[in-house]
Amino acid sequence: AAKAAGKGRVRRHGETADSATVRRTRLARDLPDALSRGQLRLVYQPVVGVAERRVLGVEALVRWDHPALGEVSPEEFVPLAEDDGLIVPLQRWVLDQATAKLAGLVRAGRDLRLGVNISVRHLQSGSLVPDVAAALARAGLPPQRLMLEVTESLFIGQPDRADGDLQTLHDMGCVISLDDFGRGYSTFAYLARLPVDVLKMDREFLAGIAEDARSAALVHSVIELGQRLSIDVVAEGVETPEQLAALRDLGCRYLQGFLLGRPTAPAELPAVIDAFDPRSLDVVAGQAAVT
Ligand code: C2E
Ligand code: MG
Ligand code: MG
Ligand code: MG
Repeated sequence: AAKAAGKGRVRRHGETADSATVRRTRLARDLPDALSRGQLRLVYQPVVGVAERRVLGVEALVRWDHPALGEVSPEEFVPLAEDDGLIVPLQRWVLDQATAKLAGLVRAGRDLRLGVNISVRHLQSGSLVPDVAAALARAGLPPQRLMLEVTESLFIGQPDRADGDLQTLHDMGCVISLDDFGRGYSTFAYLARLPVDVLKMDREFLAGIAEDARSAALVHSVIELGQRLSIDVVAEGVETPEQLAALRDLGCRYLQGFLLGRPTAPAELPAVIDAFDPRSLDVVAGQAAVT
């Protein structure tokens, strides 16, 4: 029944259509004060380099601790912020927090890159370029350390504005990545047109990669596509040693997922980065399940 009534919307367990609407209305009502009340926070997830055998960077992921409803996912509240015109202040806050955090880590001697997810609405507002420049300047962070993660949905609607501002950010030295690659619409034409440095392969691609030759062939072609275009490919959502071994053996050089590191509170981040064990990359394909 949930499926029939859902029309593509994710229904939480035990939720009726009415309770979903009530929840959404409540979240939309409370969101404007979430920032000023300090209810938003960032967590950071490691990205690992296979050849470098270390954590190369972290992705900032926003969380909302709602006083009554508990932790709310960005999948749920970012779209509300986009609808209510709150997304630009929210993204400014994310950029300021995350660049300041990363600048501190870099000053402490860590060689890391920061990934920040960008909203289509921020790009369309025209203020993304000055907002990124201001955050980098305030933090004292070189633009080469900042990767802006954009999704393909970004380019549906206002391609010219998006193209021009992304090119400007790229020219400033920021790294541009195409997030959730392979989910939804085809992105191949954009890859030729836009200044994309990094492609983040959607975790859907990893389902079955260790068992099924067709899934593995598909992942292999995405990795080869990246090589031909000189675009680095990051595999998202790596959860099992079997997936890690398959990706590594197919030539995937960058890995992100719960297996390599969970989204982590800033205070614990240095310890989590230090705890990464490069030997976890040496898992043998086919024997990964044997412990
Ligand atoms: P994303 O940018 O593709 O981020 C990766 C998401 O996958 C994160 O979910 C992360 O927690 C999750 N993930 C990482 N490794 C694994 C894994 O091994 N298995 C599984 N099942 N999931 C994994 P999260 O934090 O809930 O964020 C969801 C999405 O919300 C993000 O997808 C991004 O599109 C958006 N988002 C997060 N933070 C921001 C933000 O500051 N601004 C904007 N505009 N969007 C954000
Ligand atoms: Mg992302
Ligand atoms: Mg993604
Ligand atoms: Mg995403």
